[in-house]
Amino acid sequence: MTKKRNYTPRVPATVCPHCLTRSIAYDSVEIDRLTREIRYVCQNADCGHTFVAQLGIFRTVRPSMIPSPAIRLPHGQWRSKPANDDNRLPANDDQPDAAEAAPSPT
Ligand SMILES: [Zn+2]
Repeated sequence: MTKKRNYTPRVPATVCPHCLTRSIAYDSVEIDRLTREIRYVCQNADCGHTFVAQLGIFRTVRPSMIPSPAIRLPHGQWRSKPANDDNRLPANDDQPDAAEAAPSPT
């Protein structure tokens, strides 16, 4: 029985940092079990930039059913939150913003 996919597998592409044209991954090499280096070539013939990017595995979204004891990854969500996502007020700002304090129009 074949599994039906509801997505199209994609070749990892990125944009050239110089001309922002789509760049294609041509080769990759494993650095370790969590890191690969990928060689990209810019598709803009006038640019021709060839560069190396790193692909890293950072966290687990759903645990493996056959986990390797050698792999220890933190658990997290698909999309990472910014590091400063707490809602603390600055120490010098005890008053609500003027827009928050104003009566709402009814
Ligand atoms: Zn380019």
